[in-house]
Amino acid sequence: VGLKNVYGVPGLPGIGGAADVLDGRVAAAAIKSRVAARVADLLAGGSPAPLLATILVGNDPASETYVAAKHRACEEVGLESASHVFPADVPSGEVEACIDSLNRDAAVSGILLQLPLPDHLDARGLIELIDPRKDVDGLTAINAGRLAHGSAALVPCTPKGIVALLDHYDVELRGRRAVVVGRSDLVGKPVATLLTQRDATVTLCHSRTRAFQEECRRAEVLVVAAGRPGLVDERHVGWGAVVVDVGIHRGADGLVGDVDAGAVSRRAKAISPVPGGVGPMTIASLLENTMLAAA
Ligand code: NAD
Repeated sequence: VGLKNVYGVPGLPGIGGAADVLDGRVAAAAIKSRVAARVADLLAGGSPAPLLATILVGNDPASETYVAAKHRACEEVGLESASHVFPADVPSGEVEACIDSLNRDAAVSGILLQLPLPDHLDARGLIELIDPRKDVDGLTAINAGRLAHGSAALVPCTPKGIVALLDHYDVELRGRRAVVVGRSDLVGKPVATLLTQRDATVTLCHSRTRAFQEECRRAEVLVVAAGRPGLVDERHVGWGAVVVDVGIHRGADGLVGDVDAGAVSRRAKAISPVPGGVGPMTIASLLENTMLAAA
């Protein structure tokens, strides 16, 4: 709201007030209604609704919550979904057999293996068993390679959602200094790739980065995915920066992110909240990827 005009002026100093909110619920609702319209078209044409199959191992409460939210979101937009749940001590062979049968099942459009997995399972090995055409998390080597080449159809959901959130609020990326904190395969690396493809000048910071505060403070767009609550505060943020907080942590007072939002919002032009920022965008991107996988 007004972000385009204000942020379109490079180096505009903040005014010491509250930052604008990059509301992921609003942006996700727009994506969901587009997906719902496409599902309705498919059904009207006599085709079945695309189906997302999830695989959940163990009973990590956060993972259970995420998987339940993914099924609810499918239902909201008219996608089918099916869950495959295994106990924490499941032998690897059973999960492998499940992936194999979902790969072969023509009714299944997308397969999502919820991470993290218990230690006795080889997450990388299991991910590679997923048919890349059904890999709606975009984590197989084939899809990661295609992303690096700029030809990916199935892009990891959180990075895709982050860029969609910035686009929804018309945040200019071309030529901007973007700093990404975190270099995981799930978030940091792919979001740095996507921002580079959108012509941002990208710096990737991680746990070994020297002068971390200074690197962050140079950012016009700062994406923080470090998995450390409150790691980034006002000392890391330049006036007028746009800040995307990817972290999710369950604190005593509810969910918090990697960014000290109260302190940062006095300097930043805009910031994504936790909850209600990147989380809903991740789910909306998963729905989009399930549609794409079915096409
Ligand atoms: P990860 O632990 O795999 O990676 C964290 C990265 O941060 C590492 O590359 C590490 O080098 C870097 N890092 C750690 N400490 C640092 C420090 N002090 N300074 C600079 N860099 C540091 O985590 P991940 O899977 O990328 O997830 C990051 C966060 O995002 C977590 O809180 C996770 O829960 C959250 N997350 C949210 C969503 C969502 O949908 N909102 C999705 C995925 C992950």
